[in-house]
Amino acid sequence: MIEKIINEIPTPCYVIDENKLTENLKLLKSIEDKTDCKILLAQKAFSNFNFYPLISEYISGTTASGINEAKLAHEFMPDKENHVFAPAFTEQDMDELVRICGHIVFNSFSQWKKHRDKIKNCGRDIECGIRINPEYSEIETKIYDPCAEGSRMGVTLSAFEDDELDGITGLHFHTMCEQNSDTLWRTVQIVDEKFGRYIKQMKWINFGGGHHITREDYDIETLIKSINFFKEKYGVQVYLEPGEAIALNAGWLVSSVLDIVHNVKDIAILDVSAACHMPDVLEMPYRPNIINSGKPNEKPYTYRLAGNTCLAGDTIGDYSFDKPLCSGDRLVFCDMAIYTTVKNNTFNGITLPSIGVLKSNGKFEIIKQFGYNDFKMRLGSETYEL
Ligand SMILES: *Cc1c(COP(=O)(O)O)cnc(C)c1O
Repeated sequence: MIEKIINEIPTPCYVIDENKLTENLKLLKSIEDKTDCKILLAQKAFSNFNFYPLISEYISGTTASGINEAKLAHEFMPDKENHVFAPAFTEQDMDELVRICGHIVFNSFSQWKKHRDKIKNCGRDIECGIRINPEYSEIETKIYDPCAEGSRMGVTLSAFEDDELDGITGLHFHTMCEQNSDTLWRTVQIVDEKFGRYIKQMKWINFGGGHHITREDYDIETLIKSINFFKEKYGVQVYLEPGEAIALNAGWLVSSVLDIVHNVKDIAILDVSAACHMPDVLEMPYRPNIINSGKPNEKPYTYRLAGNTCLAGDTIGDYSFDKPLCSGDRLVFCDMAIYTTVKNNTFNGITLPSIGVLKSNGKFEIIKQFGYNDFKMRLGSETYEL
């Protein structure tokens, strides 16, 4: 689909795919309809608020990682549920959160005790929850494992203060990352074994994110079985808060080749950067797909693709193509809607890619372009003098 309009797109540009986003949302809504669970957008994966009206047609609301995401949801999805979780909240955060959030999840009993009076006295009904750490996960990459030894995320069973539950109506766990529902099923059993006696006292339970629901091989039936297990055993409202799954494969990053150099290999320098524009490529790390490319040497012309920064390791990976790459050629990186526009940066003063949309009617539109001011204005004040 994007290939048809590729030459209309000024590069670099993230292009959100309205069709694929809608398809993902329809699938998620069908799970809400079948199970009465509620699905929330984890905004940290995708906060492109121009799409919030579309998203709110299908799912129940959002969750935020702190005050700014909570405010964004309040502004652009005002009629939907607004949940928030953070490792710790400041007094200032809480003053604002009690005005805009319906659910607040605490990472510790000390945080709960610190803020509960403010919540009780705020004049709104707020559902409060505790994040638990079941000390069980199947994540290999340590930086993404909230249950790794010594993790600060959630209350372990031994730290659980069952005499401080007055005012707590829900429990929350987040222990998964890009996983299928067999992992969820095993996790749910362990959460039940360890925390079942507390879930009994709750109105709701939140299964967190990391559910790759919109991936092709995802097993929906086991997800439904996991939701129904808690729903039937304890009568609780189940929440899921996927980030990735909302906009999985619902966008591209379109780039141009700027130069070809040679050092042992052929190296193509692009107008996008792994470090600045797709940081998960270096952080996860992983190798993004590119349309019409192959693994190294699979097609006749192999290149190392590299960014336009001074970081030596700003390389995206080795790819092969049917024809030699030339300056000006377009390369389209796949699955670039999530964890990109929310994470990119202007290191080296590199300009941020524009954000556009491929609409369901096949038309491409630019939503936002960036320039010198977006780099400058985060670094200081024009009115300050030393
Ligand atoms: C990151 C995160 C999510 C979303 O995770 P995905 O892997 O993008 O689905 C949901 N809840 C919490 C608490 C998170 O930290």
